[in-house]
Amino acid sequence: MENGKSSSDKSSLKPIRCKAAVSRKAGEPLVMEEILVAPPQSYEVRIRIICTALCHSDITFWKLQVPPACFPRILGHEAIGVVESVGENVTEVVEGDTVLPTFMPDCGDCVDCKSPKSNLCSSFPFKVSPWMPRYENSSRFTDLNGNTLFHFLNVSSFSEYTVLDVANVVKIDSSIPPSRACLLSCGVSTGVGAAWKTAQVEQGSTVVIFGLGSIGLAVAEGARLCGASRIIGVDINPAKFEVGQKFGVTEFVNSKTCENKPVSEVINEMTGGGADYCFECVGSSSLVQDAYACCRKGWGKTITLGVDRPGSQICLNSSDVLHNGKTLMGSLFGGLKAKSHIPILLKRYMSKELELDKFVTHEMKFEDINDAFQLLLDGKCIRCVLWMG
Ligand SMILES: [Zn+2]
Ligand SMILES: [Zn+2]
Repeated sequence: MENGKSSSDKSSLKPIRCKAAVSRKAGEPLVMEEILVAPPQSYEVRIRIICTALCHSDITFWKLQVPPACFPRILGHEAIGVVESVGENVTEVVEGDTVLPTFMPDCGDCVDCKSPKSNLCSSFPFKVSPWMPRYENSSRFTDLNGNTLFHFLNVSSFSEYTVLDVANVVKIDSSIPPSRACLLSCGVSTGVGAAWKTAQVEQGSTVVIFGLGSIGLAVAEGARLCGASRIIGVDINPAKFEVGQKFGVTEFVNSKTCENKPVSEVINEMTGGGADYCFECVGSSSLVQDAYACCRKGWGKTITLGVDRPGSQICLNSSDVLHNGKTLMGSLFGGLKAKSHIPILLKRYMSKELELDKFVTHEMKFEDINDAFQLLLDGKCIRCVLWMG
């Protein structure tokens, strides 16, 4: 790899040739190849990735054959890196800063970013675009034949170098172990944030989590941090209970083996009328209905984190909604404002409150990324961290 930068003059910045794992065809092994990463434009930052983790959305978009999937693409959106160079108008970070990329932008300027009530930036509304957020139809990646490689979720971390908008980077303390800090770039922040910021789980509350995959486990960790006294995990795989216990899950319901009773009836009985907070972490609209039915009347909150098929609808009985006064909320990136809340979570990790170590089940070399995909597909890992170089 070669770093073409010779001075602080932005116009002297050159493309960097480096290795990337390119997703060329849906569901086929990623191809490790040399690519060119163009210099950052105005309001952009080029970073060298230190390590990247695999998240389920990478798998979803790797398998997906229809839009918003597109190929060839550089996937990956959970990572940590060091700023290599910055474009014009970037003052927030400088060369050498350690940063976490985040798919959720935080421009700091729009009405949503300025409001404490929202993390849904309106300057750069969330979408799964193949381009840079500020420049439509513009990629910073090309292969050695000069063909465009598409971006993914504003991050594209399966490359030794990548370019991000400054709205998608968070400067962090460089002393934090990278293989732990990178988890806060997506998955763990999403789950912990859903309990901490979206639901605002209180001390002593009862929480139900549908789906004990990595996001569900991160919700459990968040609920534990917030002082929930009962954390009930619901899953069809009984092996998930043992895993869940390490993350604070106190009870387990196997939704497959309570066929004679709807799961909501089981939970309502267990909790004496419903849980304070229910989280749907699978991405099934019928499970959202179940979660809603498991919430206590009067104050129960259901938080949905999963993604169902495009266009799927959630059906709720309107008199149930009127008579029961429950809340249904969506939570993207755990309701976190990346630039202000990630540093708080990192501090809580450093003070040994937030436990990140237990999420990392595997660490590998970046070159072995296809093996890591297989581990995730087989449900054998929570988080696999891939080290560059
Ligand atoms: Zn993710
Ligand atoms: Zn904004």
